[in-house]
Amino acid sequence: EQREREIAAEDSIKVVCRFRPLNDSEERAGSKFICRFGDKDDHVYIGGKLFMFDKVFKPNATQDKVYNEAAKSIVTDVLSGFNGTIFAYGQTSSGKTHTMEGVIGDSVKQGIIPRIVNDIFNHIYAMEENLEFHIKVSYFEIYMDKIRDLLDVSKVNLSVHEDKNRVPFVKGATERFVSSPEEVFEVIEEGKSNRHIAVTNMNEHSSRSHSVFLINVKQENLENQKKLSGKLYLVDLAGSEKVSKTGAEGTVLDEAKNINKSLSALGNVISALSDGNKTHIPYRDSKLTRILQESLGGNARTTIVICCSPASFNEAETKSTLEFGRRAK
Ligand code: ADP
Ligand code: MG
Repeated sequence: EQREREIAAEDSIKVVCRFRPLNDSEERAGSKFICRFGDKDDHVYIGGKLFMFDKVFKPNATQDKVYNEAAKSIVTDVLSGFNGTIFAYGQTSSGKTHTMEGVIGDSVKQGIIPRIVNDIFNHIYAMEENLEFHIKVSYFEIYMDKIRDLLDVSKVNLSVHEDKNRVPFVKGATERFVSSPEEVFEVIEEGKSNRHIAVTNMNEHSSRSHSVFLINVKQENLENQKKLSGKLYLVDLAGSEKVSKTGAEGTVLDEAKNINKSLSALGNVISALSDGNKTHIPYRDSKLTRILQESLGGNARTTIVICCSPASFNEAETKSTLEFGRRAK
């Protein structure tokens, strides 16, 4: 059985914050750099307002640093049989995809997902015990509260079921067995190209949907038959920006309401978990939180990467993004 160490909720949820650099168009538009960082890397001031996190990454923080300080430890947890979730939250263009995925195959620019994949396999290759591993991955997106399989375009509305232990899972989602990092990266590329085919404007679409990459690691000790299983969800959330109430209509407004609803549901679950006194955790309020139920809070490890723009133009969104992170602590 995998439940060995009980841990307090406050230790199981880690919130880090990452600011990207000002980009060219922000500089050209005369946007100012509005963050003030202190000596210690756990806080940031925006317009005189203080925000504290487990860690704050400045714009020059490398992918390597972010991985080592925010994500790496989850690898040993998953290999020890714990579940985990890492997700990136922030407005469109704040650096979520750069943080989670980056440039796969580029040793400097690769993000958290490829680094985790490499690390999992390196750990396994280095193990001396007589262990047998089965690693499988799934890849889907949630758009307008519908789950679409990115590894099988014919599956456009998967449902969430519960297994015999009442653990929710996405029924019928394609699972691919993988035995090397390269195989995992091929699966990711396949999922991404399916996502491109399904939509006309990929950038817009990716900011309106949550993408969920699941790594499931099962192992059996061949000497004592002891089994361990850990699931890791890696989630690139839909953009958290508010859509102006006056301008939006039709599909855009429906999408915005939907995203808003699922991100609030996520925020409510995380804050109920970190509260510690709450007995009711509202997992059932959205598909995303139902799917993540066994991988958020409790015995699971959760890391939230709050992604922010440092530009004065985005100040209101940045503050609301930081507020989301604050609620999670
Ligand atoms: P999001 O997924 O939140 O919409 P992206 O990750 O696509 O945002 O980032 C928007 C742009 O900014 C991309 O061109 C990306 O390469 C760049 N970018 C984001 N974060 C950083 C960073 N920390 N350093 C350098 N460039 C970054
Ligand atoms: Mg993105």
